Amino acid sequence: MTYLIKNATYIDENNQLVNSDIRIEKGKIKKLGKLSQTKTDQVINGEKYLISPSFVNAHFHLGETIYRGFAPRDSLKAYLSYTESVASSEEKVHTTISQLSIAESIETGTSTISCARGWKAMKKTPLRGLLSYPLMKSKKLIKYYKNDLFEETLQNEEVLTKNKTQKVKVGLWIHSLDKIDEERLKQVSKILTKNKKIMLTIHVGETKKQMQRTINKTHLTEIELLDKYGLIRAQTNLVHLNHCSLKDLTTIANKKANVTLCPTSNACLNTGLPDISTMQKKGINICIGTDGLATNDSASLLEACKFTFLLNRSANISPKALFNMITKNPAKTLGFNNGVIKEGKYADLNFFEINKPNLHPIKNVLSNLIFAGPHIPSKRMIDGEFVFTKTKNIISNFEELVQ
Ligand SMILES: [Zn+2]
Repeated sequence: MTYLIKNATYIDENNQLVNSDIRIEKGKIKKLGKLSQTKTDQVINGEKYLISPSFVNAHFHLGETIYRGFAPRDSLKAYLSYTESVASSEEKVHTTISQLSIAESIETGTSTISCARGWKAMKKTPLRGLLSYPLMKSKKLIKYYKNDLFEETLQNEEVLTKNKTQKVKVGLWIHSLDKIDEERLKQVSKILTKNKKIMLTIHVGETKKQMQRTINKTHLTEIELLDKYGLIRAQTNLVHLNHCSLKDLTTIANKKANVTLCPTSNACLNTGLPDISTMQKKGINICIGTDGLATNDSASLLEACKFTFLLNRSANISPKALFNMITKNPAKTLGFNNGVIKEGKYADLNFFEINKPNLHPIKNVLSNLIFAGPHIPSKRMIDGEFVFTKTKNIISNFEELVQ
């Protein structure tokens, strides 16, 4: 379909409000400006909307939603042991939970996610994503890996391309340095040296204890250990980073690795908060992720921006910087051509009703979107097509699982 959005008010690549027409063709933003209606399948009156790029969630867990509202929040250890004790390893169960998590993401204006597995559930949705192979020992994954999970994944490089589609990239996901030994790290390093574009995701410095355990074991910080094996790189997404040294942040900046913060989840589990001011000063590419929905508990990235500001008050992060952390920056981290309204980018757009009282005064629209919520888009476009979520069946299948 070819769309022409007439008189649209949108957030441009510099995060300024602009008024012009937007032409959508073959899934992309073809042209911006004063445009003619010729050869257009559908003309949309843009005056009713504030249009933003759709959001990119740089860290998400599809399967954790099943524990929302009742998993303990006392500590990361308590949370992980609880979820491990009640986990199901059935692929069908994971797919059902994933469908709910995906629907919720779409509803809140997210077009792109980064998480572990979920390929089957993603096939049925319009979402884009980086879906990675989890390299960890967990009860949840027993059926997923028939024999040894590293043998299955790392010895068989086919897995790096098997589930790849036009919208889905495949990466590797190390849960944390607690769950992997140095021999395995070497194997990961070997694979990634050969496959430079493959993204590596890892939880790092989530808790102080986690940080200390690696130092005690190896006499290196987590970042030093990863760097020893060439794993601090532009295709690495370091998640959390509440606890690390200044030297570590310099290494991350020099190696152009990416950092994804999940302050809402961190505050929920009381694991600590990141030093965003220093990260910003060092020019690190910072993203915000929601983390799983049992420790957040919302898939809304706008809400995650608000908490990031409030929980890290001393960093005084501007609305523009916050907005970049859920659009441009994660699009760069995950390598997707979206996150900004610009000619040639994917037409992944959110349409917010411009006449909602909580968007006004519209002088600082990014601030209003982030702080005066909730804001849920009334229309969402992914890949140049409007997307709709039919949640009735998804919810009833999900509720059956919870029983
Ligand atoms: Zn996580």
